[in-house]
Amino acid sequence: MDPSQTNCPKCHAIISSGSNYCSNCGVPVSDKALHISIGRQLWIYFVSICLPPLGLGYTFKYIVSPSSQNKRVAIIAAILTIVSIVLTIWATMGLINSLQTQLNSQLNSYPGMGL
Ligand SMILES: [Zn+2]
Repeated sequence: MDPSQTNCPKCHAIISSGSNYCSNCGVPVSDKALHISIGRQLWIYFVSICLPPLGLGYTFKYIVSPSSQNKRVAIIAAILTIVSIVLTIWATMGLINSLQTQLNSQLNSYPGMGL
């Protein structure tokens, strides 16, 4: 077997050395392609917190990766997304509650309106 060639871990097609992705199925095969830079990681975490549904896109993208580093990034992105969604819901509920309380006290101060 030619040592300069490797097989794709997913579809087992032969991948020539130097290419970062499988030409058959597009899966990343080299360490270079698998590596997520710190800047990229921070961006993924930022997206997960600030734009919750989009962060899950990265989770699905990296959770299938054979690299454990990428899996970790995917899991952290998922956790940040969930935390962000929970905080958003919690903040929204708090806002609705305070609006309702305000509305109720306003309605109560106008008992003559027939409500
Ligand atoms: Zn492949």
